[in-house]
Amino acid sequence: MQVNIKNLIDDVQCYQTVRELRWPEGVACPSCASQHVIKRGFDDAEPARQRYECHDCDRRFDDLTDTMFAGHHQPLKVWVLCLYFMGLNLSNEQIGHELALNGNDVQQMTAQLREGIVKKAYGDAVRRSGVRRSLGDCGS
Ligand SMILES: [Zn+2]
Repeated sequence: MQVNIKNLIDDVQCYQTVRELRWPEGVACPSCASQHVIKRGFDDAEPARQRYECHDCDRRFDDLTDTMFAGHHQPLKVWVLCLYFMGLNLSNEQIGHELALNGNDVQQMTAQLREGIVKKAYGDAVRRSGVRRSLGDCGS
């Protein structure tokens, strides 16, 4: 019998991980970088996804706003596990096997993850955003 790692982690942990990755010093507004942010309940479809409102510019956003995870067809759990396996130095082939993804998907995902999870923002995660090119048809 095989243990499926996707059954071992839950969405709450995944969202927590994303928060820690993108906001290591606390939640900040993606528009104005203010940390005067108030919590605004949770997403209707994904109960672990925290919503916020910026106290300074009134922007509403959530955990995934302006990240590459937003609107992607892979569940967040798969992305987080992909990151985890990359940290273990697994090859794309091994990651694909663990997550039941085909090679092309894994290739695209690891390439995107290496560029940083935040699309445009303030901070170190996007230092290389200037060289970011269109990644073609992924995410559709
Ligand atoms: Zn703001």
